[in-house]
Amino acid sequence: MLRVLVNGADGRMGSQVVKAVFEDPELEVAGGISITHVGEDVGDIAGVGHLGLTIRDDLGAALDDIKPDVVVDFTTPKVIFNNAKTCIEHGVNMVVGTTGLTAEQRHELHALALEKKTSIFIAPNFSIGAVLMMKLSTEVAPYLPDVEIIELHHNNKLDAPSGTAIMTADKIDAARKEAGVQPAPDKTHESLDGARGASVDGIPIHSVRLPGYIAHQQVLFGGYGELLTIRHDSMDRKSFMPGVVLAVKKVSSRPGLTFGLENYL
Ligand code: NAP
Repeated sequence: MLRVLVNGADGRMGSQVVKAVFEDPELEVAGGISITHVGEDVGDIAGVGHLGLTIRDDLGAALDDIKPDVVVDFTTPKVIFNNAKTCIEHGVNMVVGTTGLTAEQRHELHALALEKKTSIFIAPNFSIGAVLMMKLSTEVAPYLPDVEIIELHHNNKLDAPSGTAIMTADKIDAARKEAGVQPAPDKTHESLDGARGASVDGIPIHSVRLPGYIAHQQVLFGGYGELLTIRHDSMDRKSFMPGVVLAVKKVSSRPGLTFGLENYL
């Protein structure tokens, strides 16, 4: 049995994680952390029934008391770097779904995790379909190097562009460079600020935030007289849970920091 502490246990993603861990015979909910529901029961908040585990608000103290095998973190971009450092310092393996960590921060966490003989896994997207969307995009990019990304999310998302869109752009850029191909230069001369989106590795990313969406992305490739669009839609946050459970079970297998669910597939 792996004992799992969920950070952000009352959030949209965290409460699904509590449920997924509760329902998996090889995993056990060890505790939950949030800011607003301190003192309430982790199971009651996640909708799985009373578990006799109280929600706490101090990650470091909870790690000292509960000594979980794995922490799963779905909190906010503002606190994730410190959360990760706290887990690694305590020698506890971590699975991170929270977006917003920079490449430099990931590099620092990798070194710290190696030093402390701890494992940390980060995935900007835990859905299998999204991982395949990125893989297919890297296969198309050498043949159709002109590409733009539209990502669409619910209006409570705090960061833009999404971590998935940034990761997709990074992978497409690497695939184009490896193939020695370049996109056509952008000929736009005049535009309103933001009209061409954010540029990541020279790839425009357009972020839409509206109620009704969960997590969606379209990767648009343009060629002479043809277009190819790869599209992925997460219709329910449950779509992320098989990936989260897989990562919880596999995180200890790789020392240091591992980035991207494709490493476990
Ligand atoms: P959410 O519903 O707003 O939940 C955020 C959670 O973080 C809540 O439990 C909240 O507690 C807690 N929190 C807020 N401030 C905190 C702080 N200072 N310290 C510790 N905990 C704090 O957000 P969500 O939709 O679940 O998303 C969470 C993260 O996961 C976001 O970064 C999002 O982009 C990412 N995400 C990743 C994936 C993926 O596949 N990797 C998929 C979806 C979302 P209170 O409620 O008590 O304030």
